Amino acid sequence: MAPVTKQYDFIVIGGGSGGSGASRRAAGWYGAKTLLVESGRSGGTCVNVGCVPKKITWNFASVSEMLKDGVHYGYDIPQDIKFNFAEFKKKRDENIKGLNAAYERNWNRENIDLVHGTATFKSQKEVEVDIEDGEKAVFTAPHILIATGGYPIKPHGIPGSDLGITSDGFFDIEDLPKKMAFVGAGYIAVELAGVMNAIGVETHMFIRGNTFLRSFDPMVQDTLTQRYIDAGVIIHKGHKGFKEVVSLREGKGEEKLLKLIGNDGEEIEVNELLWAIGRSPEIEKLDPAKVGVKQGGKGHIMVDEYQNTNVEGVYALGDVTGQAELTPVAIAAGRALGNRLFGTHHKDGGPHLSTAKLDYSNIPTVVFAHPEVGTIGMTEPAAISKFGKENIKTYHTKFTPMFYSFHPAEEKKLQPSEYKLICEGPEEKIVGMHIIGAGSSEMMQGFGVAVKMGARKRDFDSCVAIHPTSAEELVTMK
Ligand code: FAD
Ligand code: NDP
Repeated sequence: MAPVTKQYDFIVIGGGSGGSGASRRAAGWYGAKTLLVESGRSGGTCVNVGCVPKKITWNFASVSEMLKDGVHYGYDIPQDIKFNFAEFKKKRDENIKGLNAAYERNWNRENIDLVHGTATFKSQKEVEVDIEDGEKAVFTAPHILIATGGYPIKPHGIPGSDLGITSDGFFDIEDLPKKMAFVGAGYIAVELAGVMNAIGVETHMFIRGNTFLRSFDPMVQDTLTQRYIDAGVIIHKGHKGFKEVVSLREGKGEEKLLKLIGNDGEEIEVNELLWAIGRSPEIEKLDPAKVGVKQGGKGHIMVDEYQNTNVEGVYALGDVTGQAELTPVAIAAGRALGNRLFGTHHKDGGPHLSTAKLDYSNIPTVVFAHPEVGTIGMTEPAAISKFGKENIKTYHTKFTPMFYSFHPAEEKKLQPSEYKLICEGPEEKIVGMHIIGAGSSEMMQGFGVAVKMGARKRDFDSCVAIHPTSAEELVTMK
């Protein structure tokens, strides 16, 4: 017997950051009859294999760094302190299970119907869901949102590349490898390699260029790359890629042994290899092309500024569109779409709801590196190319934060704080702000508000400094 088709106002495919944001706004605020389809664990990438476990692991590494710092303040801390990574991982997993349940509680409270299963387009207004126990169901709605996110890729054409893991596998590690290789130079490689190095794993980074974070301001690239080298990360710059990955021994942690054979003939043995060379949109099972949804070159779903695809009533947002792949971006785009499709009143202020959309300009972002990096707006080269060198003035400072006053000179140099403001025109409007150093992640949010509001250099200067902090350097730059 053919499955019965159930009717909704709104079908949301993907219960990650964007899908959750959109469905909660539509159902929770405006009472739209909403179905949420999720094929994996509730909360998506951020909760399960992204921001949350990453930040908890970054905190774990920060404790290790703090224990080393304590010695310089006179604490008698043995430097061979033991830790139990498997125990830590267990706690982290428990914490995430709690978040999975919290997501589901929130959806339930807001009358969102949740179906665990994999959705496939059947027609423009219909999706079929392969429910986990083998059952199938069909759902229809005038509005269907694709918020299926992405997945980390491995390289094609390298024999043995599957022997390595990706960021997903990073969060399965219980036994630490003694020696680990990271391929890539983006957010994920920098964050995960930084954590491993901080907790004593011999860390190798294989990067194609001379610096990592190549889309960031040159100050960030140069200072952070040097900082990682000073902190003991072995960076293989200008790397020509790998010819083959060979398994020498199977197992976990130090047991696993791989040989990486480079295209330049170089060979290196490591206990783990992590590919961090980017992510692809998750669309294979959904098959949006079946209903004519247009995709870009890398498979990302193409949308206009209102998250509309080219197919009427089908929308997309978050990582599957490749637009600023960050959790708060997906959430904000989801809420804006919920407002636009179902909003009847100005519950969160802003423009008329029928034109609600996310403004993608000046999105602040942080890399949880060692030390942290925060950025908003344009890099210096981008600002010069847009406004002309004569219209750009930059302010720059580099200093050692007071926290490191008692550290010996060779350790002080490991803790650079460096800030740059990029100002445009006679008004010196701040069009770019880049900060590196301890505390940058927390600092960035407030300064992000100012930049988003169109702050000028003199607005920063007119704010009295908070002393003694690192942040005060940002309002006293000459
Ligand atoms: P996702 O969160 O990936 O959700 C998509 C959901 O759709 C998934 O749960 C998936 O199971 C489901 N799905 C897919 N196909 C189907 C289908 N056919 N049917 C039903 N369900 C389906 N961002 C930050 O802002 N800060 C950070 O610190 C940060 N750290 C990160 C660290 C790592 C290691 C990674 C990988 C990412 C990190 N990100 C961070 C990025 C952030 O996680 C993503 O931008 C965000 O999760 C994207 O949300 P989304 O809703 O688009 O997709
Ligand atoms: P990114 O796009 O940030 O970086 C991918 C990196 O892979 C590039 O730096 C590129 O280096 C390198 N690369 C690409 N192909 C190859 C190859 N064949 N061999 C070697 N290196 C290669 O992707 P990530 O996977 O790091 O992260 C995905 C996204 O997730 C990020 O863009 C970010 O939006 C989000 N994220 C956000 C975080 C946060 O907010 N803190 C944390 C983690 C992820 P190059 O071009 O320089 O050679």
